[in-house]
Amino acid sequence: MLTVDIITLFPEIIEFVISRSVTGRAIKKKFLDIEYHQLREFTDDRHKRVDGKPYGGGKGMLLKAEPIFKCFEFICNCRKIIPKLIYMSPKGKVLTQQKAKELTNNSNICILCGHYEGIDERIITSIVNEQISIGEYVLTGGEIPALVLLDTMFRLVPGVLSDNECFEDESFYNGKTLEYPQYTRPYNWRENKVPDVLLSGNHKEIKNWKTKNSDYDSE
Ligand code: SAH
Repeated sequence: MLTVDIITLFPEIIEFVISRSVTGRAIKKKFLDIEYHQLREFTDDRHKRVDGKPYGGGKGMLLKAEPIFKCFEFICNCRKIIPKLIYMSPKGKVLTQQKAKELTNNSNICILCGHYEGIDERIITSIVNEQISIGEYVLTGGEIPALVLLDTMFRLVPGVLSDNECFEDESFYNGKTLEYPQYTRPYNWRENKVPDVLLSGNHKEIKNWKTKNSDYDSE
């Protein structure tokens, strides 16, 4: 079982996506244990504000250190373990399939979603273990990046995908090899036919065809 705690200003956005389809099924079957933590619940501010202006000037607001720290402390106390804390950030290392696989070796992780202009640097230097980016562009918040990371990781957790959805033949499972083309019924779709070898029943030939048609992304 993989246990994930998510710190965010928008738990409902993440839950809406995660609780559906394959991942929703995996939660019900107890392959995944996910808790959402609303950052605003960890501030003493009477207006529930969790952001402040950056020192030295500059546009936008930053998430304050204390509510994040308190939330993480709460998670550590509940889980009775210090989970690996990942901060979703455009400054982090860009996510790859390999990285996602590596992260599934942890049984407990915590994901911190930033917002506005980001978070107070002291959280990064004191409790964050790793920063992960989903690409070289900037989004408004860490929720979509967290969903990208979690979705990628979850389908690699044993039991989450059923056998017929197995990921071992998929793109990037083996370095940069990309999956071979796939077809389903009908055989003849608008005068486009399925390659005959796939209907031949000859497993060796089918295997060779698949290998030959698995592209290698050389970029
Ligand atoms: N001022 C920051 C960007 C803040 S974007 C900078 O220039 O680096 C607000 C939040 O969105 C970030 O705290 C982060 O959690 C999230 N975010 C934005 N783009 C992201 C990306 N490419 N990968 C991961 N997280 C990202």
